[in-house]
Amino acid sequence: MQTATLFDLPAIQTPPAPLEAPVPAKPKPKRRRTVHASVPLTPWTTVPDEMIRDADWVVISSSGGKDSQAMLSYVVRRAKALGMLHKVVVVHADLGRVEWEGTRELAELQAALAGVPRFEVVQAKGADLLERVEIRYGKLKVKAEEEARQRGEDPATAEIAPAWPSSAARWCTADVKRGPIRTLYTRLVAELGTLGRPARILECIGQRAAESIQRAQLAKVEINRGASNGKRTVTTWRPIHSWSDRTVWREIARSRLPYHPAYDWGNRRLSCVFCVLGCNSDLVNGARRVPELAAAYARTEVKVGTDFKKGLSMAEIIRRARVLEETEGPAARPPIGTAMAVHIGTAAVARYRIRQSAVYGLVA
Ligand code: SF4
Repeated sequence: MQTATLFDLPAIQTPPAPLEAPVPAKPKPKRRRTVHASVPLTPWTTVPDEMIRDADWVVISSSGGKDSQAMLSYVVRRAKALGMLHKVVVVHADLGRVEWEGTRELAELQAALAGVPRFEVVQAKGADLLERVEIRYGKLKVKAEEEARQRGEDPATAEIAPAWPSSAARWCTADVKRGPIRTLYTRLVAELGTLGRPARILECIGQRAAESIQRAQLAKVEINRGASNGKRTVTTWRPIHSWSDRTVWREIARSRLPYHPAYDWGNRRLSCVFCVLGCNSDLVNGARRVPELAAAYARTEVKVGTDFKKGLSMAEIIRRARVLEETEGPAARPPIGTAMAVHIGTAAVARYRIRQSAVYGLVA
């Protein structure tokens, strides 16, 4: 009987190495922004005249919209009465093709007619808001695919977060408004030279409680710690926070300053023609007035694979605009004062237009 040798024995099968569980990527440590020790937690005063007197610069943010212009008129009136108009600056964040036509020029005209000595325009560097949506989509896609790979899933099935801004992700304001306006603050502080203390900027913003639940929760006056640093303390003042629509229109009538025609067309908001926070009728109105911009939004919608607004695509907005154009025909421009009359009556509008023509020489 032959004895089996080692070579006759079946080869010992090495068990396959166990599949390694994917190692989840370490979450990036969140960058904590430290605020300079000189920046106070709360403003020392919330009294409007004291804040204006105390500031080195009073910077009025103007979108050219009705709230901005009512605030402009109110703040300028107070600054004038205090002999402090020389420190008032109006700043407009130019959004390029995505904002209503003529907005920058109107903001400049309003500032000049109100007697403000300085008007500044700032603009985000590089891509505009619509292009930023596509850039953001690209980044979100890479991130989602990478995360899917780490979970051992097919990256093609990765769910990509929406690239459009929304009320929950309002990156648009930070990118195209707040950020560029802070570059102006840097310039203004540099102009002051050495003060021996942080410069004091009083930033005036036309947000109102009546606009939304989120805005209702905002403080009327607070320290903007994000915009403050060792060289400047920025205090945010919302001068018209408690105002109603009617009060806003009354202030505009009183100021005699011209307002944007988009309101007479029926819009409630200005700034971006297609604002993610805008009501549906504003969006349809925008698509009727600026169809080429609506088409650009619709193309971006296809590229990024999500609707412009949750539950309402730009394609649908364009469809509704077309239906109205077909049934009503191209609308003629409503008379100047149409929007104002809704809130303060036709007699007050007639007085506003006569005074506007007499004081500013604008066509009545
Ligand atoms: S107007 Fe609307 S869409 Fe435009 S930047 Fe402001 S919040 Fe964003």
